[in-house]
Amino acid sequence: MLKSKADETLPPQMAEMAHKTKTPFVQCITDVISPKNLYMGDKIVLIGDALAGFRPHTVASTSQAAFDVMSLVKWLDGEIDRGEFVKRVMEYARDVQAKGVRIGNRSQFETLEVKEYIEDRNMMSTPHKDIVFPEWTREGLDEI
Ligand SMILES: Cc1cc2nc3c(=O)[nH]c(=O)nc-3n(C[C@H](O)[C@H](O)[C@H](O)COP(=O)(O)OP(=O)(O)OC[C@H]3O[C@@H](n4cnc5c(N)ncnc54)[C@H](O)[C@@H]3O)c2cc1C
Repeated sequence: MLKSKADETLPPQMAEMAHKTKTPFVQCITDVISPKNLYMGDKIVLIGDALAGFRPHTVASTSQAAFDVMSLVKWLDGEIDRGEFVKRVMEYARDVQAKGVRIGNRSQFETLEVKEYIEDRNMMSTPHKDIVFPEWTREGLDEI
């Protein structure tokens, strides 16, 4: 069943891998995000996977962990204030988590032109400094 499905849906190279795998298994892909990154009067700080576990196709999880910890150090060193720290890590977490759901749904449940999948991949490869975060990713951050 799994191997015939591979023939129907995967590129030939991937289907061949499925056939050659002696005991194929299915991995459920999930994501998770916390509504806040600071708790208990800032004694608990969530960063990286603890703040948002992205879907693997975002290829952004290690980037998030590195970016978040560097932002935390900047806050602790007084280079940025608390509000800027919250904004930086929350807008990134919210944006990438939502993109992971969106492009996952597009690739799994929609039949699109190949160029659209390439555009999704290129979007996820945008350097952090060039990402324009939508307004909604900053909603409610003043209350954290
Ligand atoms: C199989 C696999 C493949 C992956 N591939 C990619 C990839 O290709 N690209 C990518 O970007 N990301 C990938 N990731 C995700 C990436 O590894 C994580 O997003 C990243 O490591 C998260 O970093 P983190 O510091 O937030 O958490 P972690 O790396 O999980 O660090 C948390 C640390 O806290 C420690 N810890 C836990 N509880 C306690 C405690 N009570 N006291 C003290 N220490 C504690 C843990 O031992 C751990 O060392 C992959 C993950 C997996 C599992």
